[in-house]
Amino acid sequence: MRIAVVHRDRCHPIKCGTECILYCPRVRTGDETIVIGEDGKAVISEELCVGCGICVKKCPFEALDIVTLPEELDNPTHRYGTNGFALYGLPIPVEGKVTGILGANGIGKSTAVKILCGQLVPNVGNPSGESDWDEILKQYTGTELYDYLQQVSKSSVKPALKPQYIDYIPKVFKGTVSELLTSTDERGMLDHYIRELRLESILDRPIGNLSGGELQRIAIAACLSREADFYFLDEITPFLDIYQRMTAAKLIRELAETHPVVIVEHDLAILDMLADTVHVAYGKPSVFGIITRPKGVRIGINQYLEGFLPEENVRFRDYAVTFETRAHMRDVVRQTLIAFPEMEKKYGDIFSLTIAAGEIRAGEVLGLVGANGIGKSTFAKLLAGVEKPDHGEMDKEVKIAYKPQYVKGDSSMSVEFLLRQACRTFDSSYYQHEIIEPLSLNPILQSSVDQLSGGELQRVAIALCLSQDADLYILDEPSAHLDVEQRVKLARVLRRHAEGKEAGIIVIDHDIYLIDMISERMLVFDGTPGVTGSAYGPYDMKDGMNHFLKELEITFRRDKSGRPRINKPESYLDREQRAKGEYYYA
Ligand code: SF4
Repeated sequence: MRIAVVHRDRCHPIKCGTECILYCPRVRTGDETIVIGEDGKAVISEELCVGCGICVKKCPFEALDIVTLPEELDNPTHRYGTNGFALYGLPIPVEGKVTGILGANGIGKSTAVKILCGQLVPNVGNPSGESDWDEILKQYTGTELYDYLQQVSKSSVKPALKPQYIDYIPKVFKGTVSELLTSTDERGMLDHYIRELRLESILDRPIGNLSGGELQRIAIAACLSREADFYFLDEITPFLDIYQRMTAAKLIRELAETHPVVIVEHDLAILDMLADTVHVAYGKPSVFGIITRPKGVRIGINQYLEGFLPEENVRFRDYAVTFETRAHMRDVVRQTLIAFPEMEKKYGDIFSLTIAAGEIRAGEVLGLVGANGIGKSTFAKLLAGVEKPDHGEMDKEVKIAYKPQYVKGDSSMSVEFLLRQACRTFDSSYYQHEIIEPLSLNPILQSSVDQLSGGELQRVAIALCLSQDADLYILDEPSAHLDVEQRVKLARVLRRHAEGKEAGIIVIDHDIYLIDMISERMLVFDGTPGVTGSAYGPYDMKDGMNHFLKELEITFRRDKSGRPRINKPESYLDREQRAKGEYYYA
């Protein structure tokens, strides 16, 4: 079975001279295998296409995909029209359980959820796009989903959704936090959520005047407060620190005792702690997605990291994601890039930060961890010379490139234009192989920045930061909106960039797995958010993780594959590891 997909946003027949049509062997023999449709974009006939792939190679904008799928697949659950994305399978919400969906961005997770919520009537691949519930129910007869879909077909399912992109909330709601939350208080649980998520101090603030972390916590509280038959939360972790992530996970687990919850999450430590089962979603982003049957959470995550699904007999990635069970040992000797003295910075009586003396080495990636509001950004400003410390002084000025935590996409320029402006070596093979390709930017080079999704915007912001000529690169939460695959690639890009440029890279992030993959050493912040902060280190990975996790009161064990998993508090292993001081690595 073959599908042809045309990415309409990337198809520009006027700019390319319709090379797909010129070189298609079927068109050359007189068939109308590829034509230009009424909207000026290519249309490929899946019946006539023989799957040679020439058009895919010839298209300069990567606008075409021809994919052969396993014969045993039924009709798609939904297809976005002729030559559109195709989704196969659906996740199964279960009463009293948290069901996770684990997969790349653009693989159909949101489409699946829209179907489960009744916002999208699936068309079972009908090319006319028409939907017929009888046909859909026939396809699902005898499956666990039949009863659920029957309710959806009668519009008797009430969903509560937490959207992926929370920055849209201020565009659709203009009141205060309190007004928004009160309007969602249908279960009488709002006070509990306000207390647990520490929202008391911002209740009177206008929604348009909040940070990403505050908006994220409000979006979670609003979703959980509603009375619904089915709860769906699309990424709860962006902009939340590890404490807030764990609180959100605890509240969702409480809710799941009585309601079905479906969650999409790319922070695997949190997904592992939160979900009972996971559906792995694999395929090719924006082309097709296949959602597997539910798997136990440990097995599902391990199979996903391995890139191989034994039950389906599918290898969907040619490498496995692995974790080091012992603290990273680097035998390279690194020169000191910047030494910073003991420093102190106070903002009136409101906030004070103290920093122990340390150094950043040329060629290393330094992980920086700690709660939000504890001085991480202030530290970056002190290094950059944007702020002066009250005590202590940097010994030399260093050029710093900074990617902020919140990335704005308000330019109508194309991605390529912006990157060419930022980097004179855009056409060099180094830039193409080390930045453009691993960050998968080729397909979006012609897109305007204000049309990008959150994940695309994040990758562009990372590329823009790395394009600058600097001694030290600081990336604040580069994992936000990136899927697991993209996080793994990001780790490689940053490590190679640090070594290749003999530069220092600081990564501020709250995803423990990413910090583990990416860092050579760690700088740890602790204190009271918004009041005091202290920075310690840089430590080697073992001491850094121990210091950080001891503060959090969390220990990790390893499963058979070596993947770290959060221990249940006060479990035998938790107590044993605490006693030995082994919070993460043996
Ligand atoms: Fe033509 Fe199909 Fe070959 Fe593309 S893959 S060139 S549409 S025959």
